[in-house]
Amino acid sequence: MAKMNKLIQKHNHDPYLLKEKCPDPCVCERCSVVFHNGNFKWFEKPPANAAKFLCPACKRIENNYEGGVILLEGEFLSKHKKEILSIVKNTENNERNSRPLERIIDIADNNNKITIKTTYEHIARRIGEAVHAACKGELNIRYPEGEKYVRVHWHRDE
Ligand SMILES: [Zn+2]
Repeated sequence: MAKMNKLIQKHNHDPYLLKEKCPDPCVCERCSVVFHNGNFKWFEKPPANAAKFLCPACKRIENNYEGGVILLEGEFLSKHKKEILSIVKNTENNERNSRPLERIIDIADNNNKITIKTTYEHIARRIGEAVHAACKGELNIRYPEGEKYVRVHWHRDE
């Protein structure tokens, strides 16, 4: 319950989620996500009367303002990097279909260490869980007190 409250609080304080400030409907001029009836959704074709705006996910990507960070490391990672990166990408594709604002901002690949920044916390947790489910190892998910994002750490030796 405490975690839930924290999530709601974070959501309320997200400076990028000022829904009342965008007209309804409107379409993101960068990624084409549509804000309609109070929700963000993908449309085959945006409503004809949609105004243009920059969605909260694209703003976060532009400003490099992450809601989650994932650190993957260990010897197992260097040996199976390709597979692990494809798990990461597949998880992003699945998440952004159902939650359009959940995206990867950046993947920094430093040999046996990969750092991934995401727009919001949910996708960061899902990516950590997907890697953990497929590759075992150790997963640690923390919501640092007083901070607006999640830190996900996964590692596996050998
Ligand atoms: Zn966008």
